[in-house]
Amino acid sequence: MKNEENHNSKSRRSRQRDLILATLRGTKSHPTALELYEKVRGEMPRISLGTVYRNLKWLRERGEVLELDYGATFSRFDGNAANHYHFTCEGCGRVFDVAGPPAQSLERSVARDTGFRVLSHRLEFYGLCADCQ
Ligand code: ZN
Ligand code: MN
Repeated sequence: MKNEENHNSKSRRSRQRDLILATLRGTKSHPTALELYEKVRGEMPRISLGTVYRNLKWLRERGEVLELDYGATFSRFDGNAANHYHFTCEGCGRVFDVAGPPAQSLERSVARDTGFRVLSHRLEFYGLCADCQ
């Protein structure tokens, strides 16, 4: 039955997406797509890496997840889509959340100094984590 096939493929897709989102929200490690794929494969052995990529793109376009773009290297993904900062350890490569409110005063001072209207900003911290010091 055509209808039944459509129904099944749709619910399988949404189950895959739900699992990817739940897995990403359940970790603080800011995984790459490949790392996330390896985690979800434990629950859904037949899922493909391409499916994980496609769903991450879909979720990012809808503001459900953040893509942390490190230029030349691969992206990392974050299930916390709220504006927050990250600390990248140059020793082990791990990415940590930095607690604290967004630096609105920084935006205000840039606006004051330039006369521009500041809509958003990006701020990255780099150094050595507690284990790597
Ligand atoms: Zn480290
Ligand atoms: Mn984060």
